Amino acid sequence: TAELDSDVIIIGAGPSGAIAAALLRQKGHQVTILEKQHFPRFSIGESLLPQCMAFIEEAGMMPAVEAAGFQYKNGAAFHYDGRNGAFDFREKFTPGWGTTWQVQRDRFDQILAQEAEKQGTPIHYGHEITAADFSGEQPVLSVRTDDGRQYQARARYVLDASGFGRVLPRLLDLETPSEFPVRVSLFTHIEDRIDHPGHDRNKILITVHPEHRDVWYWLIPFSNGRSSLGVVVRPDMLDARSGEPMAVLQQMVSEDPNLSEVLANAQWDTPVREIRGYSRNVRQLCGKNYALLGNAAEFLDPVFSSGVTIAMKSASLAVDVLDRQLRGETVDWQADYAEPLMVGVDTFRTYVNAWYEGSFQDVVFAENPSEQIKAMVSSILAGYAWDTDNPYVSESERRLGTLAEICRA
Ligand code: FAD
Repeated sequence: TAELDSDVIIIGAGPSGAIAAALLRQKGHQVTILEKQHFPRFSIGESLLPQCMAFIEEAGMMPAVEAAGFQYKNGAAFHYDGRNGAFDFREKFTPGWGTTWQVQRDRFDQILAQEAEKQGTPIHYGHEITAADFSGEQPVLSVRTDDGRQYQARARYVLDASGFGRVLPRLLDLETPSEFPVRVSLFTHIEDRIDHPGHDRNKILITVHPEHRDVWYWLIPFSNGRSSLGVVVRPDMLDARSGEPMAVLQQMVSEDPNLSEVLANAQWDTPVREIRGYSRNVRQLCGKNYALLGNAAEFLDPVFSSGVTIAMKSASLAVDVLDRQLRGETVDWQADYAEPLMVGVDTFRTYVNAWYEGSFQDVVFAENPSEQIKAMVSSILAGYAWDTDNPYVSESERRLGTLAEICRA
């Protein structure tokens, strides 16, 4: 017999798990979250997109997040070898939020999880899923607690929101290789001390390496005078450099004159971390009595800060289908969850491919682009990648190709 029984069990209390829990509770379902770690815990993914504000609002968590005083964000700035490009998300084609925040994820994720708890979802921290059996009528999960206990948990339905833990993809053998080449990211937090007149704290700054156009840096300022700083490179480029990770990251920053100037007074006070080969794919997003949310499903690439937005969108879509299923309706997870989710994921995929191939960089750094085209591209960068009224969503590949040609000409 199972020690824990719940209508829905969610694996992981990150953004996708917390938002899914809140939305399910609103619809009257019993939900339990099992989370391996104890919060607050570090997570990468600090630059949000305006599209995700709609889900924070829908989940009833906006007042709590607003009260935290995170850094306001209204767009994305780009720099490449002396050239600047900036997008203001308030000037966009799709209606909806045009601003958002840059967040320290340990605090942000803890707030979302606490709000989900207040709304009636128990979260068991230090409880790790180690095995899963979906062969019976109801799924049964094996859980190991960090004080060494083992038990079984049963649910009518399981949502896997375990992020890079990728619990069900691993346990049910759903993983497939990503179509993106392996990339490595080195990152840290710094006391930024930025007084550069050209720098705008309200935007993420993406810098393209002056010599290697597939290498880029992020600078994400927070509201407390600190910033997240990272670089994304090919593994061979990194392996060719010797030294401690911090020295390597500092050396890479020194290779871009603009970024070096912006960070001239920065205090490097935090160890540098590395993540390698984070892009992932799966065979299917749903199966008998389970669905994969957020990063547990698929992770493309960090360049457009789309991770948390996709995670929350997946939670919102999945809850609508699951609610109908739990009320006894016949549902089609593939048609009502997987396919609609992939509309936006595939839009981002087109732009990620075009970024590394160079054509989207030509668009970003184009001089005098038309206001209308800029607004459509701005919408996508703001996360409105599911808005099929936007031709840069519905015909993303063709439109982007033509646009890049115009910009190059
Ligand atoms: P997570 O936030 O990862 O939460 C998953 C939770 O599941 C964790 O708390 C974990 O402890 C728990 N868990 C794992 N295994 C188990 C288990 N066995 N049992 C129980 N619990 C478990 N996204 C952005 O939006 N903006 C960015 O600027 C951005 N930058 C990024 C930069 C890099 C280099 C990378 C690699 C990613 C970046 N992302 C960014 C993506 C972002 O990190 C993720 O998309 C986002 O955190 C996904 O949220 P989630 O809810 O799916 O999972």
